[in-house]
Amino acid sequence: MSDLAKFREEVRAWLEANCPMSLRTPTPDGELIWGGSKVNFTFEDQRLWFERMRDKNWFCPTWSTDVGGGGLSAKENSVLESEMRRLKCRPPQINLGIWMLGPVLLQHGSDEQKKQFLTPMTRGEVRWCQGFSEPNAGSDLASIRTSAVDKGDHYLVNGSKIWTSYGDQSDWMYALVRTDPSAPKHQGISLLLLDMHSEGVKAAPIDLISGKSTFCEVFFDNVVVPKENLIGELNNGWKLAKELLQHERSAMSKFGEFQLPTHFDLMSLVNDYMPAPHSKSEEALIDRATVANMEEATYNLTVQRLTQEMQAGQNCFGLMSVMKFVHTEQEKIKFELLLDAMGYRGLGWEDDSFSDQEQSITRAWLNSFAQTIAGGSSEVQLNVIAKRVLQLPENKGTS
Ligand SMILES: Cc1cc2nc3c(=O)[nH]c(=O)nc-3n(C[C@H](O)[C@H](O)[C@H](O)COP(=O)(O)OP(=O)(O)OC[C@H]3O[C@@H](n4cnc5c(N)ncnc54)[C@H](O)[C@@H]3O)c2cc1C
Repeated sequence: MSDLAKFREEVRAWLEANCPMSLRTPTPDGELIWGGSKVNFTFEDQRLWFERMRDKNWFCPTWSTDVGGGGLSAKENSVLESEMRRLKCRPPQINLGIWMLGPVLLQHGSDEQKKQFLTPMTRGEVRWCQGFSEPNAGSDLASIRTSAVDKGDHYLVNGSKIWTSYGDQSDWMYALVRTDPSAPKHQGISLLLLDMHSEGVKAAPIDLISGKSTFCEVFFDNVVVPKENLIGELNNGWKLAKELLQHERSAMSKFGEFQLPTHFDLMSLVNDYMPAPHSKSEEALIDRATVANMEEATYNLTVQRLTQEMQAGQNCFGLMSVMKFVHTEQEKIKFELLLDAMGYRGLGWEDDSFSDQEQSITRAWLNSFAQTIAGGSSEVQLNVIAKRVLQLPENKGTS
C-alpha cells in the first residue's frame, strides 16, 4: 500500500472516530463557528469537533508544525479534504485570518510575526477582519486614505473603513493604510496589523436588507500601532494586498481548505417545488436548471483539474479571479432559479410561516448577490482577467 493510501486510511479512521454525527450535515445559517476570543458554540458537539481538530493541528493542515500547523503535504491535504467531503464533515471553524492573511504572513512575515500571529490562528484563538474598503475606495482600492503616521516607535492611525465583515466581533484587523501621501497612490500604501481592542477603535454595525448585520464601519481615532505590526516593507502594501486578494478569491471559489459545502441540491429542490405534470413555463425552468447543474458539474471538474495542476507545482494564481467570477455568478443563477421554482414560498427570510430551509434559501439568494461583489466585484474580476490572465492591452477609452 502506498504511503498516501495508508494516510487516507488513517485519516478516514480518525474522522470517523472524531467527527460527531451531528456535524456530518450541511451547516445551517447561524451554526458556523467563527474562531476567536468570542468563539460561541450552540451545542456541545460543535465544541468537541472544534477542540479535536485544533488539537490535531488540522485548522491549518499544510502550515508547518513550528507555527502550529499540521505539516501536511499538498497531496495529504487533498486526501484530508476529500475524506471530510466524503463524510460531509462541517468546517470546524471559519477564520478570515487563516484564509487570507496567513498565507501572506507565511511568505512575508518575520519570524517574530509568524510566531505572534500565526500560532494563535492555528489554535482558533483570534478572529481577524479585513480593513481594506473605505467610503471612497472599493473597486478603486488604491485610493484608500486611512493614514498611518510614523511617530518614532509607533504609527498613529486615523481614518475609517467600511463594509468590514464582522468588524465588531473580531480581535484583530489586517488593514491597508496610507504611509506616504506624497507618493503615487499605489506606492504609498502599507499593510498593518491592528488590535481591535486598542483605544480609539470603534466598530459600528451597518444594517442589511436580510435583517442580519455582518458589516461594520470601523473608525480609527489616533490609534497607536506598534511598528512591529508592519508586514513586509514600508510602502510595499499594494503588492501584498494583491496577493492577499488572490487568496480571498481562491477561498471564495471553493479552493479554500475548509470551503463551505454546497447546501442545496438544485435539481431535487426544483422537482420538490414543481412536481410533475409540468406546464410549459415549468418545463422551461427545468431546462434552465439542468443547464445550471451541468455548468456546476463542469466547474467542479475544473476545480479538481486546477487542484492537481497546483499540486504539480504549476502557477495557477491568476486563475483565481476566473474561478471566483464563475463560481459566484453560477451561485447567483442557481438561487434565482430556485426562487423562481419556489414561487411565493421564496418570499420570506425572517417569517415563521416559511420553513427553516425556505428562509435559508431566500437568505442564500440575497447573499449570492453580495458574493459577486465581495473580494472585488464581477466587473473588477473581468478587468483583472483581461489584464493579468489574458494580458490584453489596456483600453484607453475614446472619450
Ligand atoms: C459580502 C461582502 C463582504 C465584504 N467584506 C469586506 C471586508 O470584510 N472588508 C473590506 O475591506 N471590504 C469588504 N467588502 C467590500 C467590497 O470589497 C467592496 O464592496 C467591493 O470591492 C466593491 O466596492 P464598492 O462597494 O465601493 O463599489 P464600487 O467600487 O463603487 O463599484 C460600484 C459598481 O461599479 C462597478 N465598477 C467599479 N469600478 C469599475 C471598473 N473599473 N470597471 C467596471 N466596473 C466597475 C462595480 O463592479 C460595481 O458594480 C465586502 C463586500 C461584500 C458585498
